[in-house]
Amino acid sequence: MTVLFRDVLVFDRIAPGGLTSPTDVFVSGSRIAAVGSHPGTADTVVEGGGHHVLVPGLVNAHFHSSVNHLKGSLPSLPLELFMLYESPSRATRPSPREAYLRTMLGALDMLRSGTTAVQDDVFFLPTADPEIIDAVLEAYADCGIRASVALDQPELPELQKLPYLEELAPAGLRAALSAPAPHAGRELLELYGYLFDRWHGAAGGRITAAVSISAPQRVSPEYFAALDALSAHHDVPLYAHMLETRTQRLLAAEHPRFAGRSLVSYTAELGLLTERMNVIHAIWVDDDDLDLIASAGAVVIHNPVSNLRLGSGVMPFRAMRERDITVALGVDEAIAGDAVDMWGVLKTAGLIHNVTGLDSDLWPGVGELLDAVWLGGAAAMLRSGELGEIRPGALADLVLLDLHTPPFTPLNDLAGQLVYCDPARSVALTMVDGVIVAEHGAVTSVDEPTLLAEARETFAAGQPQRQRERDGAAELLPTYQAMVRRGRAADLHLSRSPVAG
Ligand SMILES: [Zn+2]
Repeated sequence: MTVLFRDVLVFDRIAPGGLTSPTDVFVSGSRIAAVGSHPGTADTVVEGGGHHVLVPGLVNAHFHSSVNHLKGSLPSLPLELFMLYESPSRATRPSPREAYLRTMLGALDMLRSGTTAVQDDVFFLPTADPEIIDAVLEAYADCGIRASVALDQPELPELQKLPYLEELAPAGLRAALSAPAPHAGRELLELYGYLFDRWHGAAGGRITAAVSISAPQRVSPEYFAALDALSAHHDVPLYAHMLETRTQRLLAAEHPRFAGRSLVSYTAELGLLTERMNVIHAIWVDDDDLDLIASAGAVVIHNPVSNLRLGSGVMPFRAMRERDITVALGVDEAIAGDAVDMWGVLKTAGLIHNVTGLDSDLWPGVGELLDAVWLGGAAAMLRSGELGEIRPGALADLVLLDLHTPPFTPLNDLAGQLVYCDPARSVALTMVDGVIVAEHGAVTSVDEPTLLAEARETFAAGQPQRQRERDGAAELLPTYQAMVRRGRAADLHLSRSPVAG
């Protein structure tokens, strides 16, 4: 199968104005075969008419599809309170079809708007099993997006994952909070065996498996090390949420196993902070943590919309870039970055750091923001050189933007308009792995209207049950609120909020 993009402009990060002159791009199979005048034809010819620009597909480097059907349903709350309602301890198992549909909802949003690759850190409530794993992966296989999927399952009891709970939890709750996690590490490793055997390299390599510890405080060192070995064996990323909240920073002093070490320093001392790690969030990191991340060569995933929604704080972007830490961008999840819109994430990343009090010379530039979403995303997926670039040999994950649309009229500065003008409105075509999957605002790889209709009916029917589960979670709220408030009062000698409270 060949596709010829004829008479298109091509994003070029080093060319004046960020663009080539009108040219052709020839795609053969899953890869870009040539960039330049192409006198021949192809199985499919896409006419650019001299007013369409081809850019690399966006990479959503961090996502949890598990809550795609819950967008906009929760008020903004600190993570620790938010999670009580997002992941209620008495959640019911979805049907495989529900898991398929919810995964598809996020994928449709991404493909329409030009996100061609996603790293999905799927959490499974109440437990993971092969049938639900298959449902998630089948949705990605069917819709045509590039997806890397890990199992984000904690392995330790709740009391060990959070500070102060031991002391704050009333006797009636203590048993529930100290109950073992739903899966032991051994069971989770069996599920990883299933995931890799069944799905790693599926759909011609478009679907891959990754590994996830969720976060260092949520797993034992033994399970963490086993997952790191799995990640090394398959050369795939290991996802790790690190220091997303102020409360998490307090674990260092509150839990004996951390012995005063931050979660980053604890991980480094275990020998598990590596170049394969995606360090997710990294807001409440100090200079020593940043030095460790830099020397390990790990990639940081920045999720600015989610961080604002949950009031987590502002990641020290400039301090990372000064250490040459690679930064990628992510939505996080559709219940906390509700639009599943990487253009919105890109724009927010371009705004949020301007209020940190830094000299304006140190605010993010549009070039480095685009590098984050493309080159950073590729690095996070351990696919540098294959994704995030338009050049012969790279994978054909491409977005065609119509410049004769409001975001680019007039065309003043391509990079600036890509970051700030919401080009989701200009997406004319999305291609993944050499296949056209969306055109003119509609996904073409699956029957989108029918799937949306089924999703509306399915999730409306589940609404009363979800409300009961959330009502049940409310019994934990006073204890968790006390924990977060105590954390806020603690002196950390570190500020990640632009306005002092
Ligand atoms: Zn996350």
